[in-house]
Amino acid sequence: MTDLASNTAKLAPHLAALRETGIAHRIGGQDVTGATFTNHSPVDDSVICEVARGTASDIDAAAQAAKDAFPAWRDMSGTARKKLLHAVADAIEANAEKIALCEAWDTGQPIRFMAKAALRGAENFRFFADRAPAARDGQHLPSPTLMNVTTRVPIGPVGVITPWNTPFMLSTWKIAPALAAGCTVVHKPAEFSPVTARLLIEIAEEAGLPPGVWNMVNGFGEEAGKALTEHPAIKAIAFVGESKTGSMIQAQGAPTLKRVHFELGGKNPVVVFDDADLPRALDAAIFMLYSLNGERCTSSSRLLVQESIAEQFEADLAARVSNIRVGNPLDPQTEVGPLIHETHWKKVTSYFDKAKAEGATISAGGTCPGGPGHFVNPTFFTGASNQMAIAQEEIFGPVLTAIRFKDEAEALQIANDIPYGLTAYVWTQDITRAMRFTGGLEAGMIWVNSENVRHLPTPFGGVKASGIGRDGGDWSFEFYMEQKHIGFATGTHKIPRLGTS
Ligand code: NAD
Repeated sequence: MTDLASNTAKLAPHLAALRETGIAHRIGGQDVTGATFTNHSPVDDSVICEVARGTASDIDAAAQAAKDAFPAWRDMSGTARKKLLHAVADAIEANAEKIALCEAWDTGQPIRFMAKAALRGAENFRFFADRAPAARDGQHLPSPTLMNVTTRVPIGPVGVITPWNTPFMLSTWKIAPALAAGCTVVHKPAEFSPVTARLLIEIAEEAGLPPGVWNMVNGFGEEAGKALTEHPAIKAIAFVGESKTGSMIQAQGAPTLKRVHFELGGKNPVVVFDDADLPRALDAAIFMLYSLNGERCTSSSRLLVQESIAEQFEADLAARVSNIRVGNPLDPQTEVGPLIHETHWKKVTSYFDKAKAEGATISAGGTCPGGPGHFVNPTFFTGASNQMAIAQEEIFGPVLTAIRFKDEAEALQIANDIPYGLTAYVWTQDITRAMRFTGGLEAGMIWVNSENVRHLPTPFGGVKASGIGRDGGDWSFEFYMEQKHIGFATGTHKIPRLGTS
């Protein structure tokens, strides 16, 4: 991945193959096509390929394939599943460069981050593969009359619905634990980023995954996605996307009593106190907002900075943001690439006028480079109050809003005064304050003196409008599996006798 020219040349044969074949659904190990829609690159709006547009009957066929494949997959030993899932991880690693190049072109995410996202996908498979043999383990809970045991069993065929931001990594994060648990899967990738979902299922099948264990139906949320959430054979829906889509899915799944797991939006605070290691806090605040184009659920999109240091901190931040390199995502020098789609570009850039109308200051960016593609210049709003739309709404682009606070109490009040609660980041050298403050924060995940560093055994998820449920470690298995209790009588305890007199 040395320079733009060589990356463009390496991508060319993959694009030619995609244009030739298009992207079909994959159902029961077979390609299935029908009506299509056109997929464009956000870099220059060029056509990537035609993509099958899934209907309710495609979803029905995929759910049936997942249902048929379920008993054999459920009954396969954990060690055999472990071996297969490691083979998938090996194949992801072997294809990491192709995945990274295709993902960068399909989503606009810079190659410097996508190379790691592909490898993280392999790591997700290895992590859950290693846990597959013990997934069913339970407890022994003896009582005076019974030997009570518990075990876990896979819930059945499940639906996985993913968004367009880092789609490869997120798909592996949801699908690997489902397969390790013994569930079969129907995956509905986002309509704006279908390419690497197709590579992923091809890789898995080539690595030996039996047909029907993993199925994929492309298409739009209101068609294929909705049908998946309503299908009676699908026992649970793991969803990553916007909060309002989560609400719709909960309603759609209600008649069939779907179990749901939601990873939703965020407007996450990074709180910088005046005693913090300020150079590190600055690096982390910039990285957690402007990496991955700001199209990142865990991005620190609200900077809460203490008044006593605000002027200098904001000035330093504005200078750095103005220096961020915007460009072709295939260029290893690029730090921010184009946004996923024109509709999203319009949404993000609409906040430039909103910020001005609300009385905030645009301290960096607030403009777009010319030329084709959905590019925006990294933007930094200062002088904001927490009531403004730029402080309350998830913009989901390279746009940061700074809000000043006087003291700890005010910082906590502002941090929590938001419908979301995914992550929070706290910068202070005062350990007692850090403990007190993190105790009061309404967020599912908090990092102190750190950017978001994922450790896969820890729980991942949000509170309030940011989600329901947790992933990671054993929490993923709790979602994809049912607890089962079995009581064995250890003697002839007294059974109440009815109808004897
Ligand atoms: P989105 O909600 O628009 O779409 C996500 C997926 O849901 C897509 O596959 C879409 O086709 C499908 N969908 C849409 N309507 C549906 C319906 N009625 N029924 C079933 N499926 C439907 O989200 P997006 O714009 O693709 O992704 C960005 C959002 O995802 C942001 O809000 C971001 O914060 C969130 N996100 C959250 C996390 C997390 O872990 N909390 C991670 C990544 C992204």
